[in-house]
Amino acid sequence: MLQHIPVIVTRFAPSPTGRLHLGHAYSALFSEKTARDSGGKLLLRIEDIDFTRCKSEFEAGLLEDLEWLGIEWNGDIVRQSERGGLYEEALQKLDDLGLTYPCFCTRKEILAEIERAGGAPHGPEGQIYPGTCRSLTAAEREARINRGDPFSLRLDVAKAKEMAGALDWEDAAKGTQIANPALFGDFVIARKDIGTSYHLAVTVDDALQGVTLVTRGRDLLEATHLHRLLQALLDLPVPRWHHHELIEDESGKRLAKRDESQTLASLRAEGVTAREILERLGFS
Ligand code: GLU
Repeated sequence: MLQHIPVIVTRFAPSPTGRLHLGHAYSALFSEKTARDSGGKLLLRIEDIDFTRCKSEFEAGLLEDLEWLGIEWNGDIVRQSERGGLYEEALQKLDDLGLTYPCFCTRKEILAEIERAGGAPHGPEGQIYPGTCRSLTAAEREARINRGDPFSLRLDVAKAKEMAGALDWEDAAKGTQIANPALFGDFVIARKDIGTSYHLAVTVDDALQGVTLVTRGRDLLEATHLHRLLQALLDLPVPRWHHHELIEDESGKRLAKRDESQTLASLRAEGVTAREILERLGFS
């Protein structure tokens, strides 16, 4: 009998907030190789929900860079900026489950609250939100919303964890990981300014696009604890992950995203060829 082997679907999901550098090239090449080695597919998703930082000229630039590298993706390009309705549906679902709450705190107020409390535990993104707005009453929330106070939405992680139960996930490089979604505290699921968040959008899109293997850098490994929780709450299929190593410069330091000298565009302008880039990154 023929065994049904699912096709691997990976993706490269850059944010057009600047020009691509060597680290992005590695990630794109890694995702493509992982797909091709298994006869699978590579999707390209432009993560452009943050209209305060994304620019169409950077999208044009990254497409030029991918073409230069010879990277070919399957199907149409998906842009997160065109998928707001899908993120709203997911938010509504989390809200219906009673798992979100509006947070009116400014950064300054959060820091002041942490200081008053004598400190807060640290998460991967710094001090954890002390949960100030979680304890507002329904009347207080309503009054502040009616008054026009800007707010983000946070996930009540303790409640969400209890609802989802124990979770784990598979990383191709690191094996089975026990999900620890409390790592970041009550994280922001919809920002004040853009009405959604990276965590929500990426989780929804990977599921709806049929991604079976999420390929991305090691710097996003911790975020996967949150994504695994969101999948469980939203009843979404669970992919596997492969968080690849990060590219370092000659001195062993991780490449900074803002290091202009390492953008593919500037390397190209200096006369570096795509073949040389592939060789340097180990894909020739
Ligand atoms: N858009 C993210 C970035 O450019 C990558 C997100 C992901 O691969 O999950 O850093």
